[in-house]
Amino acid sequence: MSGSAWDQALAQLDQAARIMNLDPNVHEVLRNPKRALIVSVPIRMDDDTVRSFTGYRVHHNTSRGPSKGGIRYHPSVNLEEVKALAMWMTWKCAVVGIPYGGAKGGVVVNPKELSERELEALTRRYASEILPLIGPERDIPAPDVGTDEQVMAWIMDTYSMNSGYSVPGVVTGKPLAVGGSAGRRAATGRGVMYVTVATLKHLAMPVDEARVVVQGYGKVGAPVVQLLSEQGCIVVGVGDVGGGVYNPRGLSPVGLASHHAETKTVAGYEGGESVTNEELLELECDVLIPAALEEVITEGNADRIHARIVVEAANGPTTPEADEILHDRRVRVVPDILANAGGVTVSYFEWVQDLQAYFWTADEVNAKLRKVMEESYVSVLDLAEERKVTMRQAATILGVQRVAEAHTTRGLFP
Ligand code: GLU
Repeated sequence: MSGSAWDQALAQLDQAARIMNLDPNVHEVLRNPKRALIVSVPIRMDDDTVRSFTGYRVHHNTSRGPSKGGIRYHPSVNLEEVKALAMWMTWKCAVVGIPYGGAKGGVVVNPKELSERELEALTRRYASEILPLIGPERDIPAPDVGTDEQVMAWIMDTYSMNSGYSVPGVVTGKPLAVGGSAGRRAATGRGVMYVTVATLKHLAMPVDEARVVVQGYGKVGAPVVQLLSEQGCIVVGVGDVGGGVYNPRGLSPVGLASHHAETKTVAGYEGGESVTNEELLELECDVLIPAALEEVITEGNADRIHARIVVEAANGPTTPEADEILHDRRVRVVPDILANAGGVTVSYFEWVQDLQAYFWTADEVNAKLRKVMEESYVSVLDLAEERKVTMRQAATILGVQRVAEAHTTRGLFP
């Protein structure tokens, strides 16, 4: 039986520490988040009653720079999960070499049940409660599951109103009108596309006609479907909370997008047959891309995954037990802290543009993103081959090594 996401994150760190012979004193520091804030977020609902929601912001580590990570609005958010997501942000930023530490935030809420006014009130009150922790030199939030550009604009405005002037660099993933970056919206999906293509080429599998299944059709999954189809891949299965669709001859990305725009789900799309979310993960395909939540590939279904490659667009979709099963079955797993790092990479570009008040074109952003993703992919692959470890172990070792180096170079305070 698997534990929490935090147990999963710690198990991955401990394993990397063992393989790389990490100094136990550094290991001790890295096993604990630097700080964690729990806040209560009371808001007046539309029916005039007051409801209190619980929110969190965790800074895992800031040795390499200000902390960075998204804010999640979801009913299953809890402190252990936010701690895990913050730790993964630390390694992720280090793996792609951007000068940030790791953080994450969340509110225990189903945003779909709130009106627009309630959502704005929740966001502004949550932002006010975590105000002492955030700032462009301190900690820079971004979107995650259940939050979007509008939520980021409200956080930017709340912070700016408290400062007395506009501070666009306090959050990334903002609308273009208030200092967002070209290319940020599809950046995570675009990064996933680059590493998927790189993996197919490395394994000498044709990119053209590679059969792909995507679990999740949101900010990450939808661009992945679109961008991989443009590369010639055949998307044979897609699913979201409503259910999934399957067509071995391929699903039309345009058809899927318009069905989703109309119904808010891919379920029921007439271009394929219906499948459950469990069946979706076990479909016959070359590449499986989980692009939703944690712990979907577990010891319960890992031996029924038919993909040759798993590319983790979500954070933490594979449990350590499932990782071992997939490894034994020679399924190549491209880990989250590499595969989905395109989002935070373009967040970094957005922050740099905000600080300089000088903005780049979409082509410039995409070209820089591609370079970061392809070079990071090669660094992780080289380390995996040199050490004879999995891609996840190699990525974790690389991330931990860079954070450990920054930590020891700075020295333990006081
Ligand atoms: N929430 C995204 C992630 O998990 C993006 C974080 C960011 O851009 O700061 O990587």
